[in-house]
Amino acid sequence: MREFYISTNVCFGENALARLEQLENKRVIVVCDDFMVKSGIVERVKKHLSKCDVYTFSKIVPDPPIEIVTEGINFLDSCRAEIMVAVGGGSSIDAAKAICEMSRRTGRIDIQQTFAIPTTSGTGSEVTKFSVISNTQEGIKYPLVSDSLLPTVAILDPDLVKTAPPSITADTGMDALAHALEAYVSTEATDFTDALAEKAITLLMKFLPDAYYHGHDLLAREKVHNAACLAGMAFNSAGLGICHSISHTVGGRFHIPHGRSNAIILPYVIEFNAGLESGDTLMAKKYQRLAKLIGLPHTSPVVAVNSLIRRLQEMQNMFGLPENLRQAGVEQAEVLRMKDEMIQSILADACTTTNPRIPLAADIEKILGKIAPF
Ligand code: NAD
Repeated sequence: MREFYISTNVCFGENALARLEQLENKRVIVVCDDFMVKSGIVERVKKHLSKCDVYTFSKIVPDPPIEIVTEGINFLDSCRAEIMVAVGGGSSIDAAKAICEMSRRTGRIDIQQTFAIPTTSGTGSEVTKFSVISNTQEGIKYPLVSDSLLPTVAILDPDLVKTAPPSITADTGMDALAHALEAYVSTEATDFTDALAEKAITLLMKFLPDAYYHGHDLLAREKVHNAACLAGMAFNSAGLGICHSISHTVGGRFHIPHGRSNAIILPYVIEFNAGLESGDTLMAKKYQRLAKLIGLPHTSPVVAVNSLIRRLQEMQNMFGLPENLRQAGVEQAEVLRMKDEMIQSILADACTTTNPRIPLAADIEKILGKIAPF
């Protein structure tokens, strides 16, 4: 028997923030970063919480370290909030989820409901059971995984994403695309997750360029925001693959934004998964179905896989993203020094277990050689 479920209530579209007005007489903690306060986004959120006591913890930073999560737990202790409202990118939402989880596990505060309000369209954290926390001393990111991390309500208000500059739109949009493309070929993919992944990929291919070039195009923003959430639902159930295993390892060590490292790695992982050197593999045929769906050349699996890879590389160029680690500012000596340890970390990453093709150390070394061609 297989199982598929979505437990988060998703409110979306213009004025979705109004969902918060259903909260009355509650003590609410808002978790966010400094930008959310300075840009006025937190103020807009608070307007919808006028019947509640609101306490703001705004110390979250990208790739949130455990020390900030600990500070957040202490802050939650001091304000004794009942409701969590996470506002921001994946970093703020992940940190908020970790704060709730650790507070509960240590018997301090058991938050009743978690509201996740993404202001980037990428991670899908608003509907996933994951929270990625960084250990800055060791340079690694580790995921917390538990159904209890699933937010109660996700609020997808496209108006909140309008301020995201093109570079963040590109990084996070490519992250969403990587989620959908990895969930689509995962060993745990099902008809249900395929439907979510296919819709997410279709929307992203069509609307991400518009969101990138015309940030105030609300229709494009809404479609990309919905797509990122659909991709989150897909990988929450199907899992991911080695694009993410490599990205966790490389991103943690060299501090490359998560979506940007995914964009660099993804084409080479698709090439590896398709395994064209062994003929028309099952995965190559699945990529062929996808290429047909999104209007790419697909007369054979080889044509389809190559056209999908080419399309991703065109998007990378269109968005001014680096093509490899050197262009992302990573030193060759650093990659060489850490290579063996990185290969072991990639093989041990939880995402590797759901990759459609089991990689050997030599396969990972080959992919690293392609993303770091010095
Ligand atoms: P982020 O949350 O780190 O934010 C990046 C930057 O964008 C920050 O400086 C932030 O202030 C800014 N920003 C956010 N919204 C903005 C807006 N509307 N306008 C202008 N600037 C804005 O970036 P992210 O890519 O959303 O999240 C990345 C984190 O999420 C990583 O730690 C990654 O590992 C994690 N992640 C989690 C999951 C999950 O399922 N939990 C999945 C993928 C990635």
